[in-house]
Amino acid sequence: MLNKMMSILAGWLIDGSGAAVQEKMRIDLFNGIIQSIRKITPPLPPAVKTGASVIDLSECTVLPALMDCHVHLALLPDAPRGLPGDGVPEAYSRVLRHLHEHLTCGVMAVRDGGDAAGCVARYKAYAAVNDLPLDVRASGPAWHRPGRYGQFIGHELAADQRLSEAILQQRGDIDHIKIINSGINSLTVFGKETAPQFDTDEMTDAVRVARQRGFKTMVHANGTAPVKIALDAGCDSIEHGFFMGVENLHQMADNRVTWVPTAYTMLALKQRMQDRGQATDVAQKNFDHQVEQIQMACELGVRIALGTDAGSAGVPHGQALVQEMRVFREAGFSVEQVVMYATHNAAMLLGLPEAGRLKPNMQANLIAVWGDPSQLPESLGAIEQLVYKGKQLNLNRTYLKNASNTQGLC
Ligand SMILES: [Zn+2]
Repeated sequence: MLNKMMSILAGWLIDGSGAAVQEKMRIDLFNGIIQSIRKITPPLPPAVKTGASVIDLSECTVLPALMDCHVHLALLPDAPRGLPGDGVPEAYSRVLRHLHEHLTCGVMAVRDGGDAAGCVARYKAYAAVNDLPLDVRASGPAWHRPGRYGQFIGHELAADQRLSEAILQQRGDIDHIKIINSGINSLTVFGKETAPQFDTDEMTDAVRVARQRGFKTMVHANGTAPVKIALDAGCDSIEHGFFMGVENLHQMADNRVTWVPTAYTMLALKQRMQDRGQATDVAQKNFDHQVEQIQMACELGVRIALGTDAGSAGVPHGQALVQEMRVFREAGFSVEQVVMYATHNAAMLLGLPEAGRLKPNMQANLIAVWGDPSQLPESLGAIEQLVYKGKQLNLNRTYLKNASNTQGLC
């Protein structure tokens, strides 16, 4: 049952807007909606007991629930191309497990970038039945050119099919369209660019048709030409964007296109190569270059949102967002900025305008971690409190259970 009125005492508050941390704040909720946020007049009430109406988090940092803007819930980080004998029940139970992993890291909304069977889009109906404390945004299978990169996360077009035609006919409980417009980054040749999968004409038509159907487009693109085509076409976000170059960054800033840089993926790949005794110098250079691009993007005013590509090789669900935040912190971004990228900016991209910020009239989707904000993002490893739409969650409870109950969805 939802507590009609509730107050949260926060030792430190990060509101998701990028504004400076505030100390000793009180958040009042009514029916899961934030009514007011004000300074607690000192001293902090000495012995406020945690009860039905007051949650004492005065030793904690409170921030909006996190969002991961790029995941593949159906993919296993250790075997992203799938396991032999994979069937629908296995995929569903994997999706459930991965959602639970996100939740334990304070991630309460994810934007899926596709799987070949479209499991996640189908799974959403099941999620609604169980009233999960998570928002899942799904693309269904990602679109790619026959014979090009993308088989294990999407569908290839038929030989004579235009991208716009495929998007027009795409069915299922989807929230956005995913298009793949390049290959992946070379781990042996620094900065090697792959050819675009679609030209400007075809991409422009595709984005227009998606928009007519009410969908945003997320475009996987690395390299100058693939990114430029996606931007000229009017896409909503660039995913990865390694080696896109400064001209594209300018265009993104001018056109208010969101960038999801997934920088940690490159460190995860480097780690895998190291474990296998392979040379890692190119992976490291790729990563360093991406960090330079991110710093430049910030100076130019590009809107950045955090995503991880969780489910791709070596990138774990949930934990990867903590790692991505660490990359940004080490690149010199303030804790307030990094939280904004993982909350407010992400919410705008996911189409969740009522979430991602802590301010009056917003949904109370928030997390609390022990200690002051300087402990972030590491303190996300031990979350003290999760609140979704004003309800306190108990992480020991299995929200994501009964994976075998998938009849009728297969
Ligand atoms: Zn991806």
